[in-house]
Amino acid sequence: MARFHDLTVTAMRKTIRDAVEVTLAPASGDFTFQPGQYLTFRRDFDGTEIRRSYSICAGLNDPTLKVGIKRVQGGAFSTWANTELQVGDTVQAMEPMGQFHIPLDASSQHHYLGFAGGSGITPVLSILRSVLAYEPQSRFTLIYANRAVSTIMFREEIEDLKNKYMGRLTVVHILEGDGQDTKLFSGQLTARKCADLFSDWVDVTTVDQALICGPEPMMLTIVDSLKTHGMDASQIKFELFASGQPGQLAQSHSNIAKTRDTERVALRVLLDGETHTLEMSRDQSLLQAALGSDIDAPYACTAGVCSTCKCKVLEGRVEMATNHALEDDEVALGYVLSCQSYVISDRVMIDYDQ
Ligand SMILES: Cc1cc2nc3c(=O)[nH]c(=O)nc-3n(C[C@H](O)[C@H](O)[C@H](O)COP(=O)(O)OP(=O)(O)OC[C@H]3O[C@@H](n4cnc5c(N)ncnc54)[C@H](O)[C@@H]3O)c2cc1C
Repeated sequence: MARFHDLTVTAMRKTIRDAVEVTLAPASGDFTFQPGQYLTFRRDFDGTEIRRSYSICAGLNDPTLKVGIKRVQGGAFSTWANTELQVGDTVQAMEPMGQFHIPLDASSQHHYLGFAGGSGITPVLSILRSVLAYEPQSRFTLIYANRAVSTIMFREEIEDLKNKYMGRLTVVHILEGDGQDTKLFSGQLTARKCADLFSDWVDVTTVDQALICGPEPMMLTIVDSLKTHGMDASQIKFELFASGQPGQLAQSHSNIAKTRDTERVALRVLLDGETHTLEMSRDQSLLQAALGSDIDAPYACTAGVCSTCKCKVLEGRVEMATNHALEDDEVALGYVLSCQSYVISDRVMIDYDQ
């Protein structure tokens, strides 16, 4: 099965100086997506393949597939996309993936609360657009944090949506730098700021579902604050773009590897309907072992942040070193991130197809 597909760039648009919206036309593959999902691109940079994920910013009702890429200082892929990528170019991406989505139901009367920081707006915007179009009785409150007005991605689109869906979309811009008339809307999104917002602007008790995407410290602050204000963890979904910290379920794989790294274990990998049998050492992750045996296992960030390398453990036991992507119920069902999983038992069987 072809994991990557060619897509033609049909339009490019700067949303701010350092971010570009890329419209894509797939030549093959199934690019039907759930709002909030991402595409993983691959590109060769001087002989080294790098893979990067970018969330779809289009809504379900949009006729085209779009991603928004913000340039990261010194970043390989985002700089290339912002400076060299052009209309007519072909890029390669995997079909949409990711768990940051919600079921849409035309009869729902929900209140969604979205938080986005910087480029974290992309998946939230996709969900917001889709909710407004497909759930006519639902409403959405967006709290969007940026450094300054000039760094607000999709500012005009959000204004247009506010006008189009009058009364159903409320937007609060929090700006770190630019002085705003209201003090509440200036500065960083701290726990204090959240508490003030929740007492003056958003009644958290009316919120059915919170959706958060932004820098990790901001996200953790918001999650804590929402819980303090009465929300249940099951009502809060978040997407992380990068992490400098070990995630939940941090485990001791390095100790296991140190003491037993000479032992070989048997690994069976189910992928695209085929079973591959190999041996691996305990100091390798499942993904490293699979790739080392020329198995075309899916992956992108290799840091436990995206869920591209997700697989299910059918036999044996593994430990995840880091997990920022899978939810507790998925882990309970046996799903792991193969880039972060190390073998504990003597034999393991994993399935990438489920
Ligand atoms: C699920 C998911 C969805 C995402 N969606 C989006 C999205 O919609 N929009 C978006 O803009 N981003 C998104 N991202 C982030 C995106 O995937 C990339 O991580 C981001 O664009 C940076 O990639 P890059 O190749 O440009 O930077 P990289 O080359 O990976 O560099 C990242 C940083 O590391 C530094 N660095 C690189 N090499 C070195 C080195 N050798 N030594 C020291 N420092 C170094 C760079 O200076 C830079 O600051 C998403 C990520 C995930 C996981």
